[in-house]
Amino acid sequence: MRYLVTGGAGYIGSHIVLALLDAGHEVEIIDNLSTGHRKAVPSAARLHEVDLRDGAALASIFGAHQWDGVFHLAALSIVGESMRDPLHYLEHNFTSSLNLIRSCTQHGVRKMVFSSTAALFGGPDRHGAITEDAAIIPGSAYGESKFFIERTLHWADQVHGLRSACLRYFNAAGADPDGRAGEDHKPETHLIPLALDAMLHRRPALQIFGTDYETPDGTCIRDYTHVSDIAAAHICVLDVLDQRSVAYNLGTGTGHSNLDVLKSIARVSGRDVPWHAAERRAGDPSGLVADATSFTRDTGWTPRYAAIDQIIATALAWRARHPDGYGDAARQIDAASVMRR
Ligand code: UDP
Repeated sequence: MRYLVTGGAGYIGSHIVLALLDAGHEVEIIDNLSTGHRKAVPSAARLHEVDLRDGAALASIFGAHQWDGVFHLAALSIVGESMRDPLHYLEHNFTSSLNLIRSCTQHGVRKMVFSSTAALFGGPDRHGAITEDAAIIPGSAYGESKFFIERTLHWADQVHGLRSACLRYFNAAGADPDGRAGEDHKPETHLIPLALDAMLHRRPALQIFGTDYETPDGTCIRDYTHVSDIAAAHICVLDVLDQRSVAYNLGTGTGHSNLDVLKSIARVSGRDVPWHAAERRAGDPSGLVADATSFTRDTGWTPRYAAIDQIIATALAWRARHPDGYGDAARQIDAASVMRR
């Protein structure tokens, strides 16, 4: 089969590209490289360095082949940034996705898998795992922009027959177990890479944002899901699209607090993470854990790397070998020296 992946040079997208290539598919990538990395693109995949708002470029890519499906990940995706400039986030994510969806309908594409988010459920604090019928109350402009796109896909199916799967990711984490791809955000804002860098003394002590939440240890709880499991989920869901459009919450169903993550890093590496308590971060819900029962029932997907220590071990192995992410392959450090096992 022949697939297009938008945002395929980014963190989750690059792992999806690997999963598609591993399954024997042909893959082309659309990425404007605003946050993605040229070096994250495997040689077997063709990269179109194109912005989704460029309609002429999209027409040429879509006209070149019959595409069996599109995986749509390209987006602005930092929650805090979206609250500083909400109109920009809403406009950018919506118009670029609208262009892409329109191209799909014009060129007879039948399937889209869309990268949605747990940020749809950013309303009042929740206890317990979140099912698909939980109220959608985006807590940020980022989450709202993803909801606009879910709704657009609904109408693209109703009127044009474009089937879509909206996968609401929780916290993607870890790296390709074979070391072919990993996490590299600039600036980095995510807990696990920042904690690993603090442990490796590449950054000052980690700040833990809030230690007075209504959780057992006072820190926020998240559902860390291995990025390769998320990638595999994209392939599992394609068969469901033969029947109908769907939206699923995608996670392991297990929550880990921020301090649990630091304990896991200590177990895996044998080193403590230096940290100190800091103010709560605006917009952080105390707990976000997926109930992925529907997805597992409909697709048979289960996470291969469900244990937090497995997630941390793959993240650490990649981080240790790529100190500057994709920017510097030369300054490697010996991963074995910072991994107990
Ligand atoms: N976090 C933290 N210190 C950091 C970065 C993140 O305490 O330097 C916390 C954050 O407040 C949240 C959790 O780690 O409780 C996960 O945050 P992340 O940004 O990794 O993902 P999010 O859940 O916001 O998508």
